[in-house]
Amino acid sequence: MQLYNTLTRSKQEFNPIQNKRVGVYSCGPTVYWFAHIGNMRAFLFADLLCRALRMNGYAVEQIMNITDVGHLTDDADEGEDKMMVAMKREGKTAYDIAEFYAQAFFKDLEALNITPASRYPRATEHIAEQIEMIEALEKNGFTYQTSDGIYFDTSKLADYGRLSGQKLDEKQAGSRVDMGEKKNATDFALWKFSPTTGSGNTKRQMEWESPWGIGFPGWHIECSAMSKKYLGVPFDIHTGGIDHIAVHHENEIAQTEGAEGKLEANYWMHNEFITVDGGKMSKSLGNVYTIEQLVEKGFDPLAFRYLCLQAHYRSKLNFTWESLEAAQNALNRLRSTIREWDAPLAPSLFEGEGGGRGIALEARFSQAINDDLNTPEALSILWQLVDSDYPTSAKAESLLKFDQILGLHLDQFIGKSVEIPPEVQKLLDERAHARTEKNWSESDRLRTEIEERGFIVEDKPEGQNVREM
Ligand code: AMP
Ligand code: ZN
Repeated sequence: MQLYNTLTRSKQEFNPIQNKRVGVYSCGPTVYWFAHIGNMRAFLFADLLCRALRMNGYAVEQIMNITDVGHLTDDADEGEDKMMVAMKREGKTAYDIAEFYAQAFFKDLEALNITPASRYPRATEHIAEQIEMIEALEKNGFTYQTSDGIYFDTSKLADYGRLSGQKLDEKQAGSRVDMGEKKNATDFALWKFSPTTGSGNTKRQMEWESPWGIGFPGWHIECSAMSKKYLGVPFDIHTGGIDHIAVHHENEIAQTEGAEGKLEANYWMHNEFITVDGGKMSKSLGNVYTIEQLVEKGFDPLAFRYLCLQAHYRSKLNFTWESLEAAQNALNRLRSTIREWDAPLAPSLFEGEGGGRGIALEARFSQAINDDLNTPEALSILWQLVDSDYPTSAKAESLLKFDQILGLHLDQFIGKSVEIPPEVQKLLDERAHARTEKNWSESDRLRTEIEERGFIVEDKPEGQNVREM
């Protein structure tokens, strides 16, 4: 299996630390707001990777953290804690906010058929582990104190910057941030002191005792501490979006190396961003879409999954409503085609029933996935299979294997005729009656009502033909 490793800037053969077990750590959501479709692309990518590893016979231990403290509005340790911003916005406790958005996040995962991770550890539940790691860094001489916290001294680590490939002095030169009391522009907070002023709803609710004073952990330390706890050092694969390369993951590597003297993870994999209408998503443009908003517009969450599969994870994906519509149409065509198929054959029958050529497509599908998760190629192989003239029972057999990776719930459609709910059947009967009376306006009105319930009616010589939208 070839995977692109950001650390070596090359596609590499994947070699796990243990024989058949793989540890994957995926940076999870900051639960101060709903996850947007860009975030969901990152989680779909991590899911795809884990499914591909399983296809190759590995048992996968995937850890995804839930960031519920310490992620500041500005990644450079400035600004407010995002959870505190949400607290003021919603007038709830930070814990209630974290719980509410974590539950919304789990709902999105389910809607997108993302296989649950083995664990979802929360930063606030691992304060002791984070303090312990900061103490190790202090002991090894990597920290210093300022008036607002304990900082990591990046000049003490010879190969700081190895992930982004930027040298420390280049980063310093390029940086225009106000350094405050920091010694180097790239230095970052490990522990921030609680402000001593503040009351009412501006007061921090999330603060803990530490050897350095009351405060809260910086954002990066949670991932080093929790990955160490659940996967050990080093572990196999770390995932996240490309925005994490230069700061968050660079700093995670620095912390684990400073505390443990070892590389945190062997492979670092990053998904490219989603842009909307060719530009950045932003609240002011009103284009920060959530999965729920796609559903409100009548789309199936799995159409978004299909849209993501159409692009390689390392390519930018430009989201437009037209592109989502096209993905939905492709998924609908796939579903209505496979509804007509026979049930899958038992695997032992597959080869004998003319499935041999299908096996060749299966091999090509695996090759595409094992070539750094080439899903556009995998989808094109899927359509070659669907449009081929092999027996449908053999095609169904292969398609189910493909769907282990693609996760489109195709098992719910193969060989299953459309189930028409009673209220839709009633509208259909009324429409048939209107047509016998040549009441075309009533017939059109009923067609719209039927469409609103997710079904398309076509008028055939033999009568009305119904399919799902
Ligand atoms: P956050 O909740 O901000 O910590 O982000 C969760 C995940 O989403 C991280 O892996 C980010 O790198 C990723 N991410 C954020 N914005 C986008 C985007 N527009 N496209 C793809 N991934 C993104
Ligand atoms: Zn992280």
